[in-house]
This record gives sequence, C-alpha cells and structure tokens, in this order.
Amino acid sequence: MKPEQLAYFRQRLEERRAELNRAIGEAQRDAQDAIESVDEGGDAAVQGELAETALDVGTRRTKEYDEIDEALRRIETGDYGRCEVDGEEIEIGRLEVLPMARTCAAHARSAERSRPPTL
Ligand SMILES: [Zn+2]
Repeated sequence: MKPEQLAYFRQRLEERRAELNRAIGEAQRDAQDAIESVDEGGDAAVQGELAETALDVGTRRTKEYDEIDEALRRIETGDYGRCEVDGEEIEIGRLEVLPMARTCAAHARSAERSRPPTL
C-alpha cells in the first residue's frame, strides 16, 4: 500500500474513532438519565428498557471502537491492509467500505460460509 493511502485510511479510522467516542458518551449519558428518572418516580419497566437499549447501543459501538483501535495498531506495525489468512494485500475498494477489514474479500466470504447459518 502506498504511504498516502495508508495516511488516508489512518485519518478515516481516527475520525471514526472520534465520532464513536462522542456516541459512546451520549449512549452512556442516555442510560444514566433513564436510570436516574426511575428514582424520580417514572415508570420503572419503561425506564429499565430505555436504559438497556442505551447500554446495548453503547456496547455495540465499543466493539466497533475496539476494531478501529486494532486497525490503527496494525498501521503502526505495518500489517495494515494485509489479509490475516494469506498475507496478501486487501483490495483498496474493500478498505474504502470497511477500513478495519482484516481479510481480503475472498477470505471474508469463506469465513462467512463456514459460519453456522443464523435464523
Ligand atoms: Zn485473503
């Protein structure tokens, strides 16, 4: 991968990480608000559900955050943009869509096929 491409993906990952930082903070505040409003005599069942949803969103975003962190680490070590399975360069088009991709398109597909079907 060219240095300017690497710089481009690093910037995209860092921007996304900053965005997630804000979103995670908001989700946690929402959850906190929902929990606190129960103390103020709100409907406990509804508030509990709201808190759960907000925490759930926070957890999903944290997982994406970890993936971005991992991708940024791979940039530092020089492993970024290489397929974990065969070490080949990941297609730039694929990285455009999924900057934290760890495998090339072919291996991503075979990993999906080997997964048990979900309902
Ligand atoms: Zn591959």
